[in-house]
Amino acid sequence: MNRVRCLVLNAALGPLDYKVPEGMVVGPGAVVECPLGPRTVIGIVWEAERLAGTEVPAEKLRPLRGVLPVPPLSAALRRLIEWTADYYVASLASVARMALSSGGALKGPATMTEYRLTGGLPERMTPQREAALGALEGEQATIRELAGIAGVSEGVLRGLVNHGALEPVEVDCDRPYPPARPDFVEIALSAQQREAADIFSNAVRKAEFAPFLLDGVTGSGKTETYFEPVAQALRMERQVLVLLPEIALTENFLHRFEERFGAPPVLWHSSLKSTERRRAYRAVSEGSAQVVVGARSALFLPFARLGLIVVDEAHETSFKQEEGVRYNARDVAVMRGHFEQVPVVLASATPALESLQMAESGIYAKIDLPSRYGGAQMPTIETIDLTEEKPPQGMWLAQRLVDGIEARLERGEQSLLFLNRRGYAPLTLCRNCGFRYQCPNCSAWLVEHRFTNRLACHHCGHEAPAPKTCTECGEPDCLVACGPGVERIADEVAERLPQARVFVATSDTLNSPGRAAEFIAAVEAREVDVIVGTQLVTKGFHFPELTLVGVVDADLGLEGGDLRAGERTYQQVAQVAGRAGRGSKPGEVLLQTRHPDAPVIAALAAGDRDAFYSAETEMRREAGAPPFGRWASIIISSEDDAEAREAANRIGAFRPDVAECMILGPAPAPMALLRGRYRYRFLINARRSVQLQQVIRRWLAAIDHPPGVRVAVDIDPYSFV
Ligand SMILES: [Zn+2]
Ligand SMILES: [Zn+2]
Repeated sequence: MNRVRCLVLNAALGPLDYKVPEGMVVGPGAVVECPLGPRTVIGIVWEAERLAGTEVPAEKLRPLRGVLPVPPLSAALRRLIEWTADYYVASLASVARMALSSGGALKGPATMTEYRLTGGLPERMTPQREAALGALEGEQATIRELAGIAGVSEGVLRGLVNHGALEPVEVDCDRPYPPARPDFVEIALSAQQREAADIFSNAVRKAEFAPFLLDGVTGSGKTETYFEPVAQALRMERQVLVLLPEIALTENFLHRFEERFGAPPVLWHSSLKSTERRRAYRAVSEGSAQVVVGARSALFLPFARLGLIVVDEAHETSFKQEEGVRYNARDVAVMRGHFEQVPVVLASATPALESLQMAESGIYAKIDLPSRYGGAQMPTIETIDLTEEKPPQGMWLAQRLVDGIEARLERGEQSLLFLNRRGYAPLTLCRNCGFRYQCPNCSAWLVEHRFTNRLACHHCGHEAPAPKTCTECGEPDCLVACGPGVERIADEVAERLPQARVFVATSDTLNSPGRAAEFIAAVEAREVDVIVGTQLVTKGFHFPELTLVGVVDADLGLEGGDLRAGERTYQQVAQVAGRAGRGSKPGEVLLQTRHPDAPVIAALAAGDRDAFYSAETEMRREAGAPPFGRWASIIISSEDDAEAREAANRIGAFRPDVAECMILGPAPAPMALLRGRYRYRFLINARRSVQLQQVIRRWLAAIDHPPGVRVAVDIDPYSFV
């Protein structure tokens, strides 16, 4: 009797057993169609001994409906799925779903119809047709995509098809990507880069698990260094995964990659079109996608022959997924390297304390790049004490900082002002009645955006036009902006230095790879004098004429009492400071602060990274915080406040009593209302010896909730709201 156990993609169900029909061949990892009641669900054949299931008698088993035409998930990926589910207290199905992330790819080979210009003209020309013909020169895509490119309706293009000006082309959905060539261009490396590159390349050659921490100062050429082991993997016909934190801003990276390897890498991120997704997914699973550059979700792609994993800017908090399965891509990447038996390089100028600790305890090999490439010097850093050097009334920049920008203007150099706050002002209130504009769905103030003249919530996306009269008291023109956002700083620069050309760089203005490319080109062409930006500009950019960085409010990140606040501030300021003086001209950094003596600020000003890390380490050790102890949070939420509170209290009533494990709560979460859901929270702090996941799983397993209640577990949380 031929039966298999399947992990079906339904988090509410355990593994299910099925009969393998006559003539069907399936082994572990095969992606199959399973009957479930009247429906068919996708499942993955799993080793029966690894999944506890109920033994259904053979005569009751239903037969599998079919095997999907994709390679089976490898044993290494199946182990990664098991580990991730276990570690992050998630269901196997929800993790497995991340590995089957393209519905189109699972359907097998396919073709699609694209269109291109024939060179012919329509009998009757209209302005729209003319515009389309001009815009579509050299383009080939679906009608819908072409309509987007040309900025006309699909109807206009269908008209052009009927007139023979556009012709259909049958395209293989899975056509191969242009090959990256390991020896396309040799790059001159410094001695320190060469030494590091050789270590990584040897590790690729050995094809065994080896975790590295590449600790290189900003501007030291980390990317070019890890391109060498990438080339080594290509020579061995092994695949490479490079994880980047902000996939929308990879322009600069892609450009360097293409120059080095002669072809772009394969991209993977959430805004790919479904056709691009299926093409990338199938190429990855068949082994023909050589180098995949992706956001954290690329971590679960079914690589056929993985040879190397690189996590660039590994300290970035955006590697932490905050919804669904709350995993940290940096840590899961190391585990994938372990299961795949390949080296993993975590690259950063400001490594997370956890990563440094792993290096110190000998688990990661630490490779240093202590100096900048090409002899560029690290920038000088000075603080501006805002309690002494007060900006003028109603303004936010101290005179010394404005003078610095002015001096750059005169020399034709560029400045960057960093403030991690989008919009014009973080809080808007009524001068007449004091009403503060708050999001209806969240415990958060609405942020004024002057570019669009709207009030917006940065948590849920709620937006409304800025009211002309107060919505509370009806008084006209009485809204007051409180505090600065980047737009307000840009206004101030324009007012105090009218000759400066200012660009506001945030996720509002750089919201696509195209916009980001335009921004980079404008800065490189010296069409911008002052960039005012959020954390988006802290990394990746390399502008040789940028010689001054001003941090508008270095204390901002220290508010809020988050356990990583000090570290995050240090990383952010060090990263943005690293944008200064990357060419032949020296860089200067001015930090505006009200607390020049705070340990983080003092360490930044002194350029003393070790002092910062050792102070931070001691603080964490005393607090039992990671990496010395462990944190977890449980968030209980519902659209109904009473329902959420009752569920939290019910869970609280079953609170386990475990030695060396402290459970706080339930209490309203700091964001007590988020996207229309009321939230209550438990915080758990445990010694490393505690089996934290097991404690939580057993605790929660026994308790049922109404369907409107969600219980989310966050292991090693980054967000404490
Ligand atoms: Zn009012
Ligand atoms: Zn909101």
